[in-house]
Amino acid sequence: MTHLLESYAAGRWYRAPDEGTQLLDAATGDEVARISATGLDLGEMTTYARTVGGPAIRALTFHERAAALKALAKHLNEDKDELYALSLRTGATQRDGLVDIDGGIGTVFSYASKGARELPNDTVVLDGNLERLGREGRFLGQHVFTSRPGVAVQINAFNFPVWGFLEKLAPAFLAGLPTIVKPASQTAYLTEALIRRIVSSGLLPEGSVQLLAGSAGSLLDELTVHDSVAFTGSAHTAGLLRTHTNVLHGGVTLGVEADSLNCSVLGPDVATGDPEFDLFVKGVVTEMTVKAGQKCTAIRRTIVPAAIADDVVAAITARLEKVTVGNPANPDVRMGALASLGQREEVRKALQSLRSSAEIVYGDPDQVTLLDGDADRGAFLSPVLLRAQRGAVEPHDVEPFGPVSTVLTYDSLDEAVDLAARGKGSLVGSVVTHDPGVARTLTLGLAPWHGRILVLDRDDAPESTGHGSPLPMLVHGGPGRAGGGEELGGIRTVLHHMQRTAIQASPDMLTAITGTWTTGSARRDDGVHPFRKSLAELRVGDTIASEPRQVTLADIDHFAEFTGDTFYAHTDPEAAAKNPLFGGIVAHGYLVVSLAAGLFVDPAPGPVLANFGVDRLRFLTPVKVDDTIAVTLTVKQITPRTNADYGEVRWDAVVTNADGDPVATYDVLTLVAKTWPQD
Ligand code: NDP
Repeated sequence: MTHLLESYAAGRWYRAPDEGTQLLDAATGDEVARISATGLDLGEMTTYARTVGGPAIRALTFHERAAALKALAKHLNEDKDELYALSLRTGATQRDGLVDIDGGIGTVFSYASKGARELPNDTVVLDGNLERLGREGRFLGQHVFTSRPGVAVQINAFNFPVWGFLEKLAPAFLAGLPTIVKPASQTAYLTEALIRRIVSSGLLPEGSVQLLAGSAGSLLDELTVHDSVAFTGSAHTAGLLRTHTNVLHGGVTLGVEADSLNCSVLGPDVATGDPEFDLFVKGVVTEMTVKAGQKCTAIRRTIVPAAIADDVVAAITARLEKVTVGNPANPDVRMGALASLGQREEVRKALQSLRSSAEIVYGDPDQVTLLDGDADRGAFLSPVLLRAQRGAVEPHDVEPFGPVSTVLTYDSLDEAVDLAARGKGSLVGSVVTHDPGVARTLTLGLAPWHGRILVLDRDDAPESTGHGSPLPMLVHGGPGRAGGGEELGGIRTVLHHMQRTAIQASPDMLTAITGTWTTGSARRDDGVHPFRKSLAELRVGDTIASEPRQVTLADIDHFAEFTGDTFYAHTDPEAAAKNPLFGGIVAHGYLVVSLAAGLFVDPAPGPVLANFGVDRLRFLTPVKVDDTIAVTLTVKQITPRTNADYGEVRWDAVVTNADGDPVATYDVLTLVAKTWPQD
């Protein structure tokens, strides 16, 4: 029976009434599935996302969302055989499949962990420091990020049916947005299989994820302000989406990742036989052959010093000769098929254009020797290396989305930068050099044209993740031709999905709104030392104001001798008198902080388990001999840790002198038991 892919829409699986379009196995030409979205109610899907999915996600704190993502990643990691088998049918080898499937699940793990560690256990994120807007400190400004009540639509390319979906889902979910995923039809059967597992797991709130299997149709017509579209695919389709009326006039945000003519530049310091020479050659061949070169990050332009170009071409050729091509189900095959026969035609057309200014030095676009497989039914293509004439235009304009790269030569670093820039904006560039001066000139020259730059040499190579691997913690996206969007980049992309608002209010109002104690707002001293309170009992604003203490010369001498910090300002009265800032002996800043701890601490065993650091420490006024200090400690933020019986408490600490001037300000970070006494 025909396997017609279904959409997951408004809480149920939808099967179109027609036969749908055939989707063929990239290597064998056999039918894998059919696809159709005929009759699918796209308006119902967007409404469902906004009214069911969005509110359910936003009822969770960032930490709860992170925990749901972690549980999902664990679940998806459990049994991947079905996914691996389907991945082979897209033309991907087993290794390619790992990059897509395990790479995608790894990205969800990474976002789960970042969400728990870097976002508060709340639904609002503070952005930057408080701005004092009035003289008395009664009128303050604070930027905050909140979730948008919209829907995140992803329109994906055919080349990474799992990773492409998950790397966009995880940050959108953390940001509080439901997702509608529209995979590229050609490989949508793999995305559908994954979404079936997500839906049946019940690990994400209902409405968090919907699937549109088939044409996008009028989906953009259904979008409005606060909705966003993240598109990966051709520059042509990106152009259509950019001019959609809801993008131009309706407040819909569009992120684009389109064609990218990425480059790798070999430094002029590198000689044949140097470790960097081999690293460069290996990098180019890897990027040409992984996923049969169907990677948005692949190296399309291989930029080398003219003097060494023959050696580079010979070395790349020697490596390409060892690449076995064929049906990816055969474990001895290194490079599989392109996604479809149509896609192979597109690459052949691109090669035709490239040949007007470059000659083929390895491979034949019309002939391929196969280790295994049917050359007529499978979308196989030989790797093709070209060498461009000086001044060639096409290598900077035409994207052959397959196992193709073009060698271009340069004579000076300026020329190398100019060649790289002629790609008009790329996702990633590599600079392969062991010379720090070359690295700086090339990297700073290339940086405005790239979203990410790998600087590769013998030192970082053993740990390098390679040119073509987008990483969850680093930005993926590039300027200009690459689309101008930014995906990944750690929490940056979560915040991209959210709305930044400047709040102007009194300190008390800011504390109430943000859930974080704000300088100047009310403190609460109920007579119980806050170190005697468990996490469940502590409240933001709970405070302890210490008794004063005098800092004597004996204290300073003792601290200097005990720690070995005998810096002259603490030990030599004559020299200290000449110091323009102090004019005499002053206490060590660390002595002040240590004495402050002695003033605020409640020493008996209790719910406070550990001090794990201080943030934002500043010494503001010098403490002179016999000055008196006191400290006020106030609960600023309370963050329970999931899967632990304690949480983090951030305390605002202000040390003042007898005149009330702030001597030191900082945040004390502690771990506090959720309940006390513990069982
Ligand atoms: P397309 O732009 O045709 O398709 C990309 C996605 O957009 C698919 O999901 C497609 O759906 C969808 N789509 C197509 N037309 C519309 C429309 N009018 N409105 C809304 N969505 C639409 O690119 P391909 O995937 O076919 O790849 C073609 C070329 O794109 C490649 O040869 C390569 O040059 C480039 N590409 C670039 C990538 C990158 O990351 N930089 C990745 C992949 C491709 P459907 O499949 O159902 O048509």
